[in-house]
Amino acid sequence: MNSKIWLSSPHMGGNEQKYVKEAFDANWVAPLGPNVDGFEKDLESYFNIEVKVAALSAGTAALHLALIECDVKHGDEVICQSMTFSASANPITYCGATPVFIDSEKNTWNMCPKALKEAIEDRISKRKKPKAIIVVHLYGMPAKMDEILEIAEKYEIPVIEDAAEALGSKYKNKACGTFGRFGILSFNGNKIITTSGGGALVCHTQEDKDKAVFLSTQARDNAPHYQHSFIGYNYRMSNIVAGIGRGQMEVLEDRVEARRKMHDFYINLFKNIKGVEVFTEPSEDFFSNHWLSAITVNPEIIGKNREDLRLTFLEDDIESRPLWKPMHLQPVFTDAPYYGTNIAEQLFNNGLCLPSGSNLSDEDRLRITNVIHSFFAVDKK
Ligand SMILES: *Cc1c(COP(=O)(O)O)cnc(C)c1O
Repeated sequence: MNSKIWLSSPHMGGNEQKYVKEAFDANWVAPLGPNVDGFEKDLESYFNIEVKVAALSAGTAALHLALIECDVKHGDEVICQSMTFSASANPITYCGATPVFIDSEKNTWNMCPKALKEAIEDRISKRKKPKAIIVVHLYGMPAKMDEILEIAEKYEIPVIEDAAEALGSKYKNKACGTFGRFGILSFNGNKIITTSGGGALVCHTQEDKDKAVFLSTQARDNAPHYQHSFIGYNYRMSNIVAGIGRGQMEVLEDRVEARRKMHDFYINLFKNIKGVEVFTEPSEDFFSNHWLSAITVNPEIIGKNREDLRLTFLEDDIESRPLWKPMHLQPVFTDAPYYGTNIAEQLFNNGLCLPSGSNLSDEDRLRITNVIHSFFAVDKK
């Protein structure tokens, strides 16, 4: 019996348990300690520009705190890329604000600068100037940051980069997560590196970081008793979890390389198959970590659709998954405004994410190849 091939599964480096053991040995079994400090330092020195990082319990928590620091309040509007995981948009609702969803563009599948500009101008004309812009680097692919930042600067709206899937990705040689006023990272179990569950907020000033740490540890004022002037949250990363993160940081570059090799494998696999396009960087300006490799399947050329392919993979116990269903099509967000031309919807209809883990074996790749060859009736030489 073949074992299941996952889309993306945890891949330990080896030293994670050493750091966790240190935490146990010193009894730092708490949401603070040397691993939390160490993991933050590891992340800070990983980025090629100076940043301050706050380690938190989840990427979702990081987004929530970023919105609070951008002063998003009840009744406000926040712009968000439509094609993304729901965790990009949910924190807007936690703040009592409304998301305004923006379509994708075809090259990067990320926020369309044209639709963004149209949305901002229309919201301003309705006296609802957006308080922040959440742009996502989907599947590790950098968004068109030059165009997006230019619009954001023109209208003086802060940008929050959801880089949950994009640790290790770069745009014009600058790391994703470091462009906006804030960047957020995720270390959930299926991400490029994992702490089992966790996230981080990337800041550009010590003040912004300190505020995030303050809010994430129940917003205690400086007093011997428990005194509170703000609503706090319990969002800090635990010292055990951070130990896993320190071990994973040692192998991050290897993981990026392995994911990019999986992408190369798919480029090669689909090279002679008409009607399938592998999602790839549009130019040298974009460097994706290829967290997930994805394809679009043209049913008019192939005569079968992406769901047929997904089910065929499943018969051999291989996981694949449709692209993120756009947020403006989700039942929970039906009332939210949307700007665009349904690019994201078309991508969702035809797109499929393929097994992309850094821990896949040659044998796994052979099984994937066999499914693809038989599905597309490729002659084996
Ligand atoms: C995983 C993910 C998140 C949420 O991160 P968690 O750590 O799971 O809370 C947010 N946005 C995107 C695009 C993600 O893929």
